[in-house]
Amino acid sequence: MKGMIFDLKHYAVHDGPGIRTTVFLKGCPLHCRWCQNPEGISPEHELMLMPNRCARCGDCVRVCKYQALAQKEDGEVVVDRSRCVFCGDCEAVCQREAIGLVGREVTVEDILAEVEKDRLFFDQSGGGVTLTGGEPLFQPELAEALIDQLSRAGIKVALDTSGYAPEKTFLRLAQKSDLVLFDLKMMDGDQHRKFTGVSNRLILKNLKVLDEIGQAVWIRFPLIPGVNDRRENLKAMADFLLKLKSVKMINVLPYHRGGVGKFHRLNQDDQFGIFEPPSQAMIDSVINYFRGRGLVVKQGG
Ligand code: SF4
Ligand code: SF4
Repeated sequence: MKGMIFDLKHYAVHDGPGIRTTVFLKGCPLHCRWCQNPEGISPEHELMLMPNRCARCGDCVRVCKYQALAQKEDGEVVVDRSRCVFCGDCEAVCQREAIGLVGREVTVEDILAEVEKDRLFFDQSGGGVTLTGGEPLFQPELAEALIDQLSRAGIKVALDTSGYAPEKTFLRLAQKSDLVLFDLKMMDGDQHRKFTGVSNRLILKNLKVLDEIGQAVWIRFPLIPGVNDRRENLKAMADFLLKLKSVKMINVLPYHRGGVGKFHRLNQDDQFGIFEPPSQAMIDSVINYFRGRGLVVKQGG
């Protein structure tokens, strides 16, 4: 079983309980305007150029057999993405790590070998592995094989999902996991479509079904000023969540601009937005509102 990941982080402490290894599966059906990991949206390889590291030596341009790279008069490297075949030659030749491919084809065994290095930390901290993305259910075969193998190895698995996946697949993989980290962004269907590209109907339905089977859920709420911070949205969320019995906690995740540089490097600025990060006063006010409604809330994951 093979699949595509775009990152694997050891010692993560914000992606579920304890110390974790977080595996980032590539590909996502949503297109959130505030995405922090835009390199996780396309299920394919991508070419990333980091102009701030580039020495403008031109080695990558000379090595590219497909004329996908060129240099302007001032030496700036420009990419013609329609010509790139992701051979990786430019990455291999660049001394400054200024150009490279995003996305690595891996087997389940490759990932397990990485995860095993952290087993001691899992045992001591109550941690485990978190599958995230992108959207891990966008590669359901890889996600399921990983969950099965990790469970067999006695390692706890958290599934971090947007909930936007066919119900059968979603439920099967969620049930096999030890914990579901469920992203809930906003309740208004039109606004959800406007900011993420998809309706939230399937997401809310999947969350309800998940609750019916009693799976433990942490809600992940990305707080983005001007998008989902209004009282109307917070109230609708609290009303919805208070009807569920399996939600253990809400993680309020304040927006930050960590993804913005990546939009530039992927040449996708037009597809994303730049928002104002919330002040601590706003974060506290949101947390206090949810707490006032009787929900367990924590800032961060
Ligand atoms: S090889 Fe690297 S440093 Fe040289 S021009 Fe290409 S990206 Fe820039
Ligand atoms: S990955 Fe290959 S085809 Fe694409 S720009 Fe680099 S050298 Fe050219």
